[in-house]
Amino acid sequence: MSSDTKRIYNFSSGPAVLPVPVLQRAREEMLSFRGSGMSIMEISHRSSLFDEVLMAAEGGVRRLMNLPDNYNVLFLQGGAAFQFSMIPLNFLGANGTADYVVTGIWGEKAVKEAGRCGRVNIIYDGKDDGYKRAPRPGEINVSANSGYVHYTSNETIDGVEFNYDIDGGGVPMICDASSNILSKPIDIGRYSMIYAGAQKNLGPSGVTVVIINDELLEHVPKNQHSLLDYRNIASSRSMANTPNTWGIYLVGLVCEWLEQQGGVEAIAKVNDEKARRLYDAIDNSDGFYSGRAEPGSRSRMNITFHLPSVELDEAFCSESERRGMSGLRGHRSVGGIRASIYNAFPLEGVDALVDLMRDFAAENR
Ligand SMILES: *Cc1c(COP(=O)(O)O)cnc(C)c1O
Repeated sequence: MSSDTKRIYNFSSGPAVLPVPVLQRAREEMLSFRGSGMSIMEISHRSSLFDEVLMAAEGGVRRLMNLPDNYNVLFLQGGAAFQFSMIPLNFLGANGTADYVVTGIWGEKAVKEAGRCGRVNIIYDGKDDGYKRAPRPGEINVSANSGYVHYTSNETIDGVEFNYDIDGGGVPMICDASSNILSKPIDIGRYSMIYAGAQKNLGPSGVTVVIINDELLEHVPKNQHSLLDYRNIASSRSMANTPNTWGIYLVGLVCEWLEQQGGVEAIAKVNDEKARRLYDAIDNSDGFYSGRAEPGSRSRMNITFHLPSVELDEAFCSESERRGMSGLRGHRSVGGIRASIYNAFPLEGVDALVDLMRDFAAENR
């Protein structure tokens, strides 16, 4: 590879690493998309060519997640964080209440927006424990009169992941899966809605995938603003206005790549192995590295840890950059180190980090 195409190990939390074959394909198709003489960004979203792109992306998500017909796949804009507002604007109502499970900073932000629309009942709050774990199933009690339950299946900043599906007991379950969607099989029947900003596991930023079932769509208020109305977006097949055509195209390519890897079950095994190697490196370091999340809640996507001092955290990051790695600095709110290892992150990159951890500990103990 020439220097302008050389790849490094990119541990960024998002936007994050994309599969190289996807980038190559996008490059090949850039100037003349499927013989049209135009790039994907230059064709009409109403054209039959774009229709194929939309179908490919929708179909990819459907097959990979095994979605039954009563689930809709929508492509929205405004990022995952826009859903923090759009969800309560549709499903909370002035007199309603909703239950929120807060296991990290993203959940906290979701609560803040929902609080502007109605009553928010925080049924689990991990803040006092420093967001180090997910609640155990018995620790959360969903209120029977709640409009919905919202939780974050993987807290990207703190590195806290649920290893089970919350039982909503019949109350619609809404999940922010931005940083672990398609990383493992899930039981879709338990969810009324799952959403994810694409820039971690699905594609580029600027497109948000929303999977929502027909039943929840019926709860959208009658006179909702068109672009806030999930029903309208579903019936217009995500084309209530001009969608992010480029983003949807890449989501389709990422889905195709994932299917070639053997789908979600196959990638889950690789993800487990990648995470295991890093947590082993932490646990076998005689305390030089300390994991942030409690072992039962450790994220398989965002491995968070710290060294004995902030100076060493910093020296570790500098050394990682010298070795051709990037994106390992923890989020500014928590510090330390964060290795984001989404689906597209290669196993060799994990091994390179494990080698660095071993060498750095030996030299700086
Ligand atoms: C990144 C992230 C978000 C925010 O995504 P935007 O697309 O920037 O709005 C929300 N929730 C989780 C869990 C995330 O990881």
